[in-house]
Amino acid sequence: MTTISLVTGASRGLGRNTAISIARHGGDVVLTYRTSAEDAMAVVAEIAALGRKAVALPLDVGDLASFPGFGEQLRDALTTLWNRDNVDHLVNNAGHGVMASISETTEAQFDALFDVHVKGVFFLTQALAPLIADGGRIVNISSGLTRVSFPGFSAYAAAKGAVEILTVYMAREFGSRGITVNTVAPGAIETDFLGGAVRDTPDYNKGFADMTTLGRVGTPDDIGPMVASLLGADNRWMTAQRIEVSGGQTI
Ligand code: NAP
Repeated sequence: MTTISLVTGASRGLGRNTAISIARHGGDVVLTYRTSAEDAMAVVAEIAALGRKAVALPLDVGDLASFPGFGEQLRDALTTLWNRDNVDHLVNNAGHGVMASISETTEAQFDALFDVHVKGVFFLTQALAPLIADGGRIVNISSGLTRVSFPGFSAYAAAKGAVEILTVYMAREFGSRGITVNTVAPGAIETDFLGGAVRDTPDYNKGFADMTTLGRVGTPDDIGPMVASLLGADNRWMTAQRIEVSGGQTI
């Protein structure tokens, strides 16, 4: 049976690549976007060109009050497009970064990080749990910065650290339904993240590249296909794990 994967924040960057990679692996996709319906529709079109089905739904992962309404939209889309009432996979990918020292981080920056990456992931997963098929998969996107420190990422890394603990508890509580839950922790990747800092700032790019064993920073193609393969049938016995995908960053 064709699988359906829900990928949050898939209008750009790693989520976009993950959604398209899932389609290349033969799966259908529900993708979410926050600001650009146009970008999201371009991903839907690319997936359609691969011969797979996709739909894009708006979602702000920091807006917890919107989750019941999002669940309704998801149910409607699943019925209309697939004649189903659940998805097989949830990829909690959407998020943003803040680079600020501990002395400079504002409460608003801190709250926004925790609202999206911690409360958002926790309560979206809670809201969608009834819509995830037994035997399904959840992948939570964290960061290499939870293992390796880099000045300016204390609040961001703390939020991602919480995501990794949530992964273990989700694995524990959803295990009785046969649902596996794992963390994927990318290293520095060339996307729009942090205003494209890793991609567009040569010193920054080199600094992170020098930290990796493979001698470069990552690209979305280093992450999306990996997440898609993690969702494949061959990975059914792995759960509660943190998998770092960083080209060997600071090993
Ligand atoms: P990106 O290129 O900036 O894309 C972020 C995506 O998430 C966009 O689709 C964006 O939607 C969406 N998004 C952001 N905040 C959202 C919110 N509150 N609600 C819903 N959607 C939201 O970043 P990326 O590099 O792909 O990052 C994806 C994930 O990987 C994030 O969780 C990030 O922390 C993690 N990560 C990134 C790196 C890296 O170096 N790039 C490394 C480790 C981990 P809009 O277009 O509407 O803004």
